Amino acid sequence: MAYIILTITIKCPFCSRESVEKLIAETDEFDKQEMARYLSQQTFDCQLCSEILPAGTSVNAHAELATPEKLREMHFPPSPIN
Ligand SMILES: [Zn+2]
Repeated sequence: MAYIILTITIKCPFCSRESVEKLIAETDEFDKQEMARYLSQQTFDCQLCSEILPAGTSVNAHAELATPEKLREMHFPPSPIN
């Protein structure tokens, strides 16, 4: 099991600013096509003005494999089980 950090950048049509959102996804294997399909089914809202972005808004996603350091930076998991 691996974690992937998805950085999603959306140009908001409501406030014209760039909304950046980071998601952590759990995956068995890193598959860009799977990620693209997953993202196309998601609804995002603007992090700046909270408007729900309409379907068809272009979403820019960057995926990278999460390292333990990066997960720690993002305070994930919230309460580690050891
Ligand atoms: Zn906005």
